[in-house]
This record gives sequence, C-alpha cells and structure tokens, in this order.
Amino acid sequence: MSDQTVAPADSQATGRDPGIAGSAQAATLPAMRIAVLSDIHANLPALEAVLAALGSVDAVWHLGDVVGYGPHPDEVVARLRMLGAIGVRGNHDAAALGVLDTEWFNADARRAVEWTAKRISPDTRDWLAGLPVRAELGEITLVHGSPRDETWEYVTSTSDARENLAAFATPYCLYGHTHLPAAWRAGAGRVEPLRPAPGFALPLDERRLLLNPGSVGQPRDGDPRASALVLDTAARRATWHRVAYPIATTQAAMRAAALPAGLVMRLERGL
Ligand code: ZN
Repeated sequence: MSDQTVAPADSQATGRDPGIAGSAQAATLPAMRIAVLSDIHANLPALEAVLAALGSVDAVWHLGDVVGYGPHPDEVVARLRMLGAIGVRGNHDAAALGVLDTEWFNADARRAVEWTAKRISPDTRDWLAGLPVRAELGEITLVHGSPRDETWEYVTSTSDARENLAAFATPYCLYGHTHLPAAWRAGAGRVEPLRPAPGFALPLDERRLLLNPGSVGQPRDGDPRASALVLDTAARRATWHRVAYPIATTQAAMRAAALPAGLVMRLERGL
C-alpha cells in the first residue's frame, strides 16, 4: 500500500490552502477541559478514581462500552447521567440491549452481556438505547470502533489508521474499542503512530488525528491502571492519564455477581 494515501495531509504538503485547518477554524469548540472516557465496562471504582484524578472538567465525553464485563452497569450509567456525559454506543452496550448479535463475542464476554441484560434497570436501558453510534462535536468526531465501522473495527495498525483517517469529516476523531491508548497523526502524506505514555501531551494542530484514550474499566496494555484522556481546547492539546484504582473492590463485586473468573483475573494484569 502506498504511503501517500492520506488525502487531507497532501494539501499541507503541497502548500495548498489546508481545508482541514479551515474547517477546524469554523467548528472550533469553546475553551473547555473535556474528560474523554472509553470502555468503562461497568467498573464504578475505576470510573470514580478517574473522575477524582482528572479534577474539574467542563464536560465528560464517552466512547461507548459503558457496560459489559463489569459488575456496576446501573451505577456507572447513573454516574454518567449525573455528569451530563455525552457519547456513543459500543458493541457491548448494543449487545446488552439485545440489538446486536453476540455470535462474535467470546464465551466470557457473552456471559457478562447476558448477566448485564438481565440486571439493568429500565432507566439504564433507555439511556443506552438513546446513544448514537457516531457524534460530531465541533471539530471532533466520536465513535466506538472506527469511523468507517463504528461498532466492530479495531484500529490497531498504521494501515487501519491510514484508511480511517480519511473516513471522518472533522479534523480529529476519538475512538475506543481496542482498550489501548493510541494516537495516529496524518502529516506530509504519512501516518505517524504515536505511543502515548502517561502524561504524554499531543498538540491539536492542523494535522488530522485519531486518538484513543485507552480503557477506564478494563485496560489491555499490561498496565492495570485506568486510562483516560483530557482534551484542553484552550491550550490545544490532548493529554493521556493513568489512574490507580481499588481493583480488588471491583473484583469482589464481580465474584459476588458470579461473573466469569477470567474476567475477574484479567483486571489485575491489565490484559
Ligand atoms: Zn470494550
């Protein structure tokens, strides 16, 4: 595959008027500090720890998979509602509502989805049912999987990122689903993979970006701490955070709910 396929970056490279920067100008968000949370997976202690660590924010955005795997679906949804969080629906949210076939879920994931579907209140169900699969907020697109397949695609390689960087209309896109913090930047006809370590701050400039905050409730990069992102639209930067939380509290609630042992164990390994 050619390295020259990210069309929006070419206008930059050739010195033509950068249409992307133009659209960023037009749709720029007001000065805000936004907590971006993905794949919370019904893990209330992880969510509470992240909210406490990020401090005061003007908005909370989420990228789906609010429920599934974890023991606190109603509590997590209630907390997000209280915060006025806005976001999109993930595959586990859709499966818990019964609107997505669980044929492609592994056995543990399916058991957890079935448990969630039985456990959630009508209020939780209504809130989940109201989530769109895609949202555009100012200069930013929100999806769960990827901009070209919001429900299922995992963006894990540079070629996935290259194709997806051409699949949204805004300058920047936030996605989740992989449970891995990541950033992909288009510029000068190339796609640059970035590995955001905790504290990494990425400028929001004229280059197109695909950003993954990592997972709050079930990290899979070998670091069991909850992962999240803060967007600062005044300082024009995105910063990744890792936050320790009482994993044993979540695990005890999972055992009490008889959720699969493999799901309980993986939390302390971050895998
Ligand atoms: Zn997930």
